Amino acid sequence: MSLPNCPKCNSEYVYEDGLMLVCPECAYEWNPADSVEEEDGLVVLDSNGTRLADGDSVTIVKNLKVKGAPKDLKQGTRVKNIRLVEGDHNIDCKIDGFGAMKLKSEFVKKL
Ligand SMILES: [Zn+2]
Repeated sequence: MSLPNCPKCNSEYVYEDGLMLVCPECAYEWNPADSVEEEDGLVVLDSNGTRLADGDSVTIVKNLKVKGAPKDLKQGTRVKNIRLVEGDHNIDCKIDGFGAMKLKSEFVKKL
């Protein structure tokens, strides 16, 4: 049986530790039975816990202050064609009247 590469750093030196798999390079541990990772390994959930994907459309679930913008982003604003990215603000998108920006997935809901 061959072990998968580390989903975080793609190391091939993963080893088994009981039920867990452990990566010696970035110290990431995971249970291979937990989930089947997508190719990019990026899991982004909306405010309802629904998994989001590139190209999804979402709505904003609360009014959000936008740095440098003259107005708030209103609850109910639709955002089309999102792109998932790594990090704290894990959705890359373009919003009419605001331009390109990043959102936190916890503040959106999948349409
Ligand atoms: Zn690793």
